[in-house]
Amino acid sequence: MPIRLMSPQVAAKIAAGEVVERPASVVKELVENALDAGATQIEVEVKNGGLQLIRVTDDGAGIPSDELPLAFERHATSKLWELEDLQSILSMGFRGEALPSIASVAQVLCVSRPHDADRAAYIRLEGGHAVEQGFQGAPFGTTVFVRDIFQNVPARLKFLKSASTEGTAVVRTVSHIALAFPDVTFRLIVNGRLMFHSPGNGDVRDALVEAFGLETAQSLVLVETGHWAGLIQVSGFVSPASLTRARRDQQAFYVNRRWVQSRMLSHAVDDFYRNVLPRGRYAVAVLYITLPPADVDVNVHPAKAEVRFRRSGEVFSALHRALQATWSALDPTFSASSGEDPQGPTPIPSLRVDEGAPRVQSLFDLPTASSRVAPGEPAKAAPALILRPVGQVGVTYIVAEGSDGMYLIDQHAAHERLAFDKLMKANADKAVDVQGLLEPLAVSLNRTQRATLEDAATAMESFGFQWEPFGEGAVLLRGVPTGLRDGEAEQTFVEALDGLAQEEGPTKDRGRAIAALVACHSTVRAGQVMTFPEMDSLLRWMTEAGFPRLCPHGRPTMMHLPAAQIDRNFLRR
Ligand code: ADP
Ligand code: MG
Repeated sequence: MPIRLMSPQVAAKIAAGEVVERPASVVKELVENALDAGATQIEVEVKNGGLQLIRVTDDGAGIPSDELPLAFERHATSKLWELEDLQSILSMGFRGEALPSIASVAQVLCVSRPHDADRAAYIRLEGGHAVEQGFQGAPFGTTVFVRDIFQNVPARLKFLKSASTEGTAVVRTVSHIALAFPDVTFRLIVNGRLMFHSPGNGDVRDALVEAFGLETAQSLVLVETGHWAGLIQVSGFVSPASLTRARRDQQAFYVNRRWVQSRMLSHAVDDFYRNVLPRGRYAVAVLYITLPPADVDVNVHPAKAEVRFRRSGEVFSALHRALQATWSALDPTFSASSGEDPQGPTPIPSLRVDEGAPRVQSLFDLPTASSRVAPGEPAKAAPALILRPVGQVGVTYIVAEGSDGMYLIDQHAAHERLAFDKLMKANADKAVDVQGLLEPLAVSLNRTQRATLEDAATAMESFGFQWEPFGEGAVLLRGVPTGLRDGEAEQTFVEALDGLAQEEGPTKDRGRAIAALVACHSTVRAGQVMTFPEMDSLLRWMTEAGFPRLCPHGRPTMMHLPAAQIDRNFLRR
């Protein structure tokens, strides 16, 4: 085919596709326009998921009647004139694309009355062209009606989900934008029913109640950056450990009040919560990041939903620090997750205790807990939380008392995590203790196990396994990691190989798989009676290690019942 210029109509529809994907994106653009116009009240109405009707009414500045047709011209904007202005964008819009894009894929009526006008002007467009203009009576502000979206773009229509799914996306959009503008009243009406109503009283909590429900909103914890924040401020709300979700859909990030999707930001939250929440569970998080506009590029995507940070490593660690500070304030025993920082380690102000447990021979023979602080940590003392064992419940959980309430500790999960961390550290230091077997064990292996052993020989050796070939299909096991329970050497060896066969991840995960298995076979079991000195010793080790919250398999190690909560339950407060 010869090269030809496409018609302006076709070009407009293609460009529109980038801004207007679905009814929710129209709602987003129109609401952002209302916010840019300084509205304090915004009402959104949709019918049939927005496919039939979208209406957005605001009480903002309005559009002068002579500018009304211009607003629907491509690249017409009142917000950005010079390229340099891109450096300092604080308005939601700036590309001058939304109105013309919407008009090219739907029927649009826009009625607007600036505050100094004695009547409203209107413009009606079909297929992107003005078909009617005039004046009418209307209150101050702007209303945009969008009807029959995508009726003229069958290809796009085909990709839309059901009206109810599109409606849900609209609710999500409005509620998420509302969370960044607590001083604006938002009302959302879906098929004649009021679905969302934020009071606009300036209190984000009230908007949170509307967005996430009373119970969730009440249990969220306030995040605020302290004096160390510098140019990057982080604030918002996050889950305590008791509040988790099966999906990430209750996480929202805002950059300079713009609701954005950012892999980096969700990764920072996931990374922080990785050692706090059980595997496969996600935190609820509403986080506002404020930084100089020049440090963030909002012009990455036509819908402006993605952003690029100039110094993403700093944003990552600012977020981490804010979460860390929040958790430390909540719970002085808190020990943070690894916090892998793409820019390398940053000193994190925290109360974390060095997790390297001393090398010990027997399960519970531990020197007294010392509160060593990791290098780079502020010398501010680590908390000396002393837990006093009270007894055992169900021969599985240790009941303990601390200065701040009652603790229930899963004896196996807790011990397993401690043994795991110790083993990983010993492995990193190349100092795993090997226990030679008095009588070497002949262990027969199936074909897969033999292949795995050959493949992972170095890793197995580095964790203390020693063996040599022993005829066809067997090996002679001579040494195992110190501390395995009596009689479990062979089983541990074989299970480690079976576990490795399923591990497809990088080499580092192999190490974790071996360590988790060895830890599991080294530790006190559920159902095992523990003496008081044994419980005491385990609790001291927990203190020493900074109270890791999860076992290597992602199960919680402990529950904390704060004294205040106990008192409340008994109506003493
Ligand atoms: P952008 O928001 O990127 O400037 P739009 O196509 O969304 O581009 O809007 C074009 C222009 O129309 C805006 O710059 C603004 O001047 C005007 N406008 C749009 N919606 C409103 C509104 N609700 N109130 C006042 N002015 C508006
Ligand atoms: Mg706009």
